Amino acid sequence: MGVLRVVFLGPPGAGKGTQAKFLEQKFGACLVGTGEILRKAVRERSPLGRKAVQYLDRGDLVPDHVMVKLVAERLRARDCQSGFILDGFPRTIAQADGLEPMLKDIGLALDSALCIQAPNEVIIQRLSGRRTCKVCGSLYHVVFDPLARAGKCDRCGGELYQREDDREEMIAARLRVYESQTAPLKEYYCRRGLLKEIDGVGNVEEVRNRVFRALGAVAT
Ligand code: ADP
Ligand code: ADP
Ligand code: ZN
Repeated sequence: MGVLRVVFLGPPGAGKGTQAKFLEQKFGACLVGTGEILRKAVRERSPLGRKAVQYLDRGDLVPDHVMVKLVAERLRARDCQSGFILDGFPRTIAQADGLEPMLKDIGLALDSALCIQAPNEVIIQRLSGRRTCKVCGSLYHVVFDPLARAGKCDRCGGELYQREDDREEMIAARLRVYESQTAPLKEYYCRRGLLKEIDGVGNVEEVRNRVFRALGAVAT
């Protein structure tokens, strides 16, 4: 297994963040999670946060030009020679088009678009029980993950909270945004021969094994 260069696709709650963090640990590739970056910016009330907050609150997408600039800066600033994992980007065709020149810039071509799939009832169950560490962004689940019961992050001691956009009334809106704006990326990457569809139903380890298999890596 050489240098890892992947993007994660798939609906909110499918398990992208969870699997992206595994790949980060296993391959030491640089992880760029755009949702996490935006939430941190909102908490810190940075200029980016002030631009993004209205979209996050509604479950809408932050404008493409903001996102493309953000990711370009991250990829350039961080050492991605050991590879990169994009979680939550691209989310539109325009963002995918914006990614191509960035990759040329750093001299790394994409090797897979991993799309984690799950039916709506699974997604709703995962999102409505998700808890996120305020400090390090680690992911927990009130039902599937006994560690969530402590209310504190097992890795860093940070406070676990429920994201505003994971509340029941926002989930349907986010799924609509996904279907209309992000789902077309499957065809986009399929045409380029990069799409790898992964069944996201099953426990975290089962899905992780499928991801590793899709990448051609041994799952240990
Ligand atoms: P999830 O993990 O549930 O799929 P994310 O944490 O990736 O959600 O994203 C949370 C929110 O951040 C999105 O609903 C959207 O408002 C914003 N966001 C994240 N990534 C992008 C992006 N690439 N383009 C536009 N908006 C984004
Ligand atoms: P995404 O990044 O696609 O929005 P997450 O990785 O944040 O999804 O997962 C959503 C929620 O579901 C989190 O609470 C996470 O702990 C939980 N989760 C992730 N993968 C699984 C799985 N295979 N089985 C059960 N729960 C999972
Ligand atoms: Zn933490």
